[in-house]
Amino acid sequence: MSAVYKVRRLLGIDTSRGKYAYGDDPEYGYISSSRIADHWVKTTCGYCSVGCGMLVGVKDGKAVASRGNPDHLVNRGKLCPKGLSEHHILDAPGRATQPLLRKNGRLEPVSWEEALDTMVERITAIQARNGAGSLGVVGTGQLVTEEFYTLGKLVQLGFRTPNFDGNTTLCMASAVSGYKLSFGSDGPPGSYADLETADVVLLIGANIADNHPILCNRLERNKRRMLIVVDPRVSKTAMMADFHLAVKPRSDIALVNGIAHILIRDGLVDREYVAQHTKGFEELATFVSTFTPEYVAQVTGLSIEQIEQVASLYGRAKAAFIGWTMGVNHSTQGSVTVAAINNLALLTGNIGRSGAAPFSITGQCNAMGTREAGFTSSLPGYRKFESDAHRKELADMWNVSLDSIPKARGLAYPDIIESAVTGRIRALWFIATNPAVSFPNYSVLEHALRNVEFLVVQDGFHPTPTSEFAHLVLPAAIWGEKEGTYTNSERRVSKVNRIVSPPGHARTDFDIFLALAERLGVRNQLYPGWTSTRDAFAEWQRISAGRMCDYSSLEWNDLERTGGRQWGGERLYSDGIFPTEDGRAQFHCVPCEPFLEQPNAEYDFVLNTGRTVEHWHTRTKTARVDLLNKMVPHAWLEMNPTDAARLKLRSHDRVSVISRRSQVANLELRITAIVAPGQVFMPFHFAESNSNLVTLGAFDPISREPNFKQCAVRIEKSSAH
Ligand code: SF4
Repeated sequence: MSAVYKVRRLLGIDTSRGKYAYGDDPEYGYISSSRIADHWVKTTCGYCSVGCGMLVGVKDGKAVASRGNPDHLVNRGKLCPKGLSEHHILDAPGRATQPLLRKNGRLEPVSWEEALDTMVERITAIQARNGAGSLGVVGTGQLVTEEFYTLGKLVQLGFRTPNFDGNTTLCMASAVSGYKLSFGSDGPPGSYADLETADVVLLIGANIADNHPILCNRLERNKRRMLIVVDPRVSKTAMMADFHLAVKPRSDIALVNGIAHILIRDGLVDREYVAQHTKGFEELATFVSTFTPEYVAQVTGLSIEQIEQVASLYGRAKAAFIGWTMGVNHSTQGSVTVAAINNLALLTGNIGRSGAAPFSITGQCNAMGTREAGFTSSLPGYRKFESDAHRKELADMWNVSLDSIPKARGLAYPDIIESAVTGRIRALWFIATNPAVSFPNYSVLEHALRNVEFLVVQDGFHPTPTSEFAHLVLPAAIWGEKEGTYTNSERRVSKVNRIVSPPGHARTDFDIFLALAERLGVRNQLYPGWTSTRDAFAEWQRISAGRMCDYSSLEWNDLERTGGRQWGGERLYSDGIFPTEDGRAQFHCVPCEPFLEQPNAEYDFVLNTGRTVEHWHTRTKTARVDLLNKMVPHAWLEMNPTDAARLKLRSHDRVSVISRRSQVANLELRITAIVAPGQVFMPFHFAESNSNLVTLGAFDPISREPNFKQCAVRIEKSSAH
């Protein structure tokens, strides 16, 4: 507080008038005059994959207000608390504004020239000694698609390392693998509109009220729907349900197989659809014959009546929708669980019609765009590494040699980290991601970060728990400071616009990639004449043409005007033809296995982790939005009253969560029947109470997605309230 300010206060002069004075906004009526914008910029929300259209008000060059775009098809003017406060992030404290290079153990400001020259010199020297694959790169669903596409070319054809992945592997990789297993390709088949027209909506491990709140608005428009929520916890979404199935942790496969059993037993299978469009039915029928309601009741903890009723509702619906998120994906069995869910849709022909779809609800704002632009789980445009024809197509279009296109996927994210521990990976480059909070089993991650010779962290913020380990910090623009496109969960490609300029010396990720390409001597070859993300979009249109995620008919300006277009139309597979060799979808027999780390006498609780609506992932952004942070300033632990009584714990006691790996201390205890006896829940957003200190370093063998959800812990009192 300045001296002048203090004197004015002492004299009784109104010093805060500018804050609360109000004025007449032509659109809003009377609001705070500080929020009356000079102009509004149309854009798309940069948090979750719902992809809400929004308008950000700018006054005197500063973002002052956010509101939902009333014309946008996704959200029709609504926003959740994160979207409504998103403009605050554009003048939040803690931004990275200057490149920083570690010298004599300290991060010191340097010029961009020195930063980028050093990065290229250090990485190429490490690669010369240890092979091109000694560089590992982890990108993010926070980049616009054009940046991710540019990055993929730079990593694979410029730095020539195949070891490139995105933080989407911590989130949606199992949905990708499950779609490929069943349908032959990634690509969510349905639309949000299906939530409005389905008779039955079955949500499995999907707490949309906290994680995708605007989808609840879409659901609420459907007055006749029956909502069934499968979740071990009475989440906010479970509270909205007509039926809540509080299954035992990780028993969802048994439930889904049990529903398949009843559908077949009761003749609720669409025989014509199965005969014409699928394969493997007989094997599936034999396999699920043992998943009787009695057996499934035993495994899931549900009653036989509940299982029968839900199977009957699903099987008799004219149109049934199944949505899932992290309750399914965050598992060593995530990919096959997705395939088992897809079985239900195929058995009943609930795919490719209004209201009928199996549908993964994605995490980050542009996780879908990263999946399309590829070079991680597949080549760009959902092309396959193992297909010579696909590789040749790309090589020809890019005018590069066929040998330069990898024949197989490089290391996935967890394997990049593991290889950094063992010394195979010697240099790491993280882009807009914060693994020090988001990666499971923190001690292994820390070992990897300390072990590499050169760690580059490119981020909009510094310090973050990850950037503190860096040898080089590259300051990057964030949402609202750059232009491009995002694809949301329903395949809608929407425009993202620049609202303000990046602070200090921060540059867009796109500019950083081109500057690195220049230093590698590949800029003209890989990005001929490119100066903006619009150039990348134009090339991406050509590369994606004729593929499932075909952008060729999308127009840059039209995307903004219309609120985005869905590639593939409103629904995929309406003709029942799938991108497999014979055009048929594949049933999969998925055994139900117990999760890896079962509770025992010493570690007697199952820990579940998840999110809350006020925060976004590792809080790099939302911790800096005062409004959101004050609503939920710290982590907590939920415990059932019977367990609390047994342990003689009281509400608001401080407790420690202890696993075989480490512990999280000093959490506020919340005693609530929202969690079942024997289970506890904590949010994963908080660096200072990092749930990943205790989570398990176990991964899905197909997708490599971590098992964040179940590990065995014990709870001890740290101090009384
Ligand atoms: S629901 Fe998701 S996309 Fe919509 S405003 Fe909230 S965070 Fe943004």
